[in-house]
Amino acid sequence: MTAAELNALTVHDALARLDNGDCTSVDLVDALAAEIQTRDGDLGAFVSVDVDTARAEAEAADRARAAGKGGRLCGIPIAVKDVLNVRGQPCTCASRILDGYVAPYDATAIARLRAEGAVFLGRTNMDEFAMGGSTENSALHVTRNPRNRAYVPGGSSGGSAAAVAGGLALCALGTDTGGSIRQPAAFCGCVGLKPSYGRVSRYGLTAFASSLDQIGPMTRTVRDAALLQEILSGVDPLDATSVAAPVPPYAAQLTTDLRGVTLGVPAEYGVEGLDAGVDKAVREAIARCRALGARVVEVSLPHTAYAIATYYIVATAEASANLARFDGVRYGKRCADAQDPLDLYKRTRAAGFGPEVKRRIILGTYVLSSGYHHAYYLKAQKVRTLIRRDFEQAFAVCDALLTPCTPTPAFRIGEKTQDPLQMYLGDIFTVTANLAGIAGLSVPCGATPEGLPIGLQILGPAMKEENVLRVGHANETARGEGWIG
Ligand code: GLN
Repeated sequence: MTAAELNALTVHDALARLDNGDCTSVDLVDALAAEIQTRDGDLGAFVSVDVDTARAEAEAADRARAAGKGGRLCGIPIAVKDVLNVRGQPCTCASRILDGYVAPYDATAIARLRAEGAVFLGRTNMDEFAMGGSTENSALHVTRNPRNRAYVPGGSSGGSAAAVAGGLALCALGTDTGGSIRQPAAFCGCVGLKPSYGRVSRYGLTAFASSLDQIGPMTRTVRDAALLQEILSGVDPLDATSVAAPVPPYAAQLTTDLRGVTLGVPAEYGVEGLDAGVDKAVREAIARCRALGARVVEVSLPHTAYAIATYYIVATAEASANLARFDGVRYGKRCADAQDPLDLYKRTRAAGFGPEVKRRIILGTYVLSSGYHHAYYLKAQKVRTLIRRDFEQAFAVCDALLTPCTPTPAFRIGEKTQDPLQMYLGDIFTVTANLAGIAGLSVPCGATPEGLPIGLQILGPAMKEENVLRVGHANETARGEGWIG
């Protein structure tokens, strides 16, 4: 097979090719490494690639396969967002403060993939500590949208989305605290699944907001996301918030029709500023679901208007506590010639964190401070409960909800960097799923006249990943355009 053919494979196709001897895992790693070498200087999807280690892992996978001992991902190269610990690799969270930090252990998500034979190709760029929606907050470099290089890839898992959609990785891991898997998937034209809270162990994920964070797959097809999710899911003694719910065979349960499925369309999602192309593509997707046999009903999520305010209080409060550990003592960078411990903390943090991270630490410290804690943090927690109840009521009458993933397609690099509020408002459709702890999937559903991808968001009840995967798979099959969407 040619390098171009290898780089364009889905995970399922690659597994079939490995099985019948059309290629080896080493072939896959070599083809992707060469492509990264040629094209990533411009695209900027990766922050580090360790070809020697990946090649050694691929050789081991090829030997295991030959001996009939390979796991479910035997020999599949995967890209990993630079926020997850992979033993022996740097983990910078795209922050200067973690310069020089090397992960001493595997995150549970990584260990699960490794146990199935996955090969770790490299680490992808992101907004610093996953704070942002364009990857422009990376302290390392810019990442471009592979569909149009003048545009952002979305974020914070922008490097993972750009790698998968741009032909530099067959699949990747991202993390999603308020949309960071789904929004970049929508912007770049790939598939992104945010699992329900507790579905995937967070052990080894550098925490941003612990009550919202989840790790999930970014792939070229829904079937690939289903397979990765089967492997990632499950309880873990190292994460007390992981849930011991049975893991269905997601990939095997996919169907191409939607008979017997009821889908809800929230009345509140026709927001001001909704891009006409996005609106049209989502309406077409709703019509497609009907044609596939789904019953479509209107539902109401009345507290949606409060979601952004609630999210940016809860997320920043938790971030301000989680990021206290980066003090120059234990991890990464330490400022030189500190006078005393306080001077060490101050100077390390002042030099190590970028402006968006500082903004969030300040905001989070403020909403938790005595005197304001009740007015902001506690109130936000109460609104969070109301948002969760909105979804419980909606899911009493439907199996999944259909919404746009983002109000607009990708924007130009630099367009929103001076206006954090505009950036935050773009998260309106995605943050509610994290606040409520439910499952959310983004699948490509069209493109603007300029060729920028549009994502359909499918939301499902907590621990019902199978619902969103089924709706997503039926949609992508009916669209029938292959993964370059
Ligand atoms: N864009 C959102 C934020 O900036 C979501 C980030 C995320 O999911 N990690 O917080």
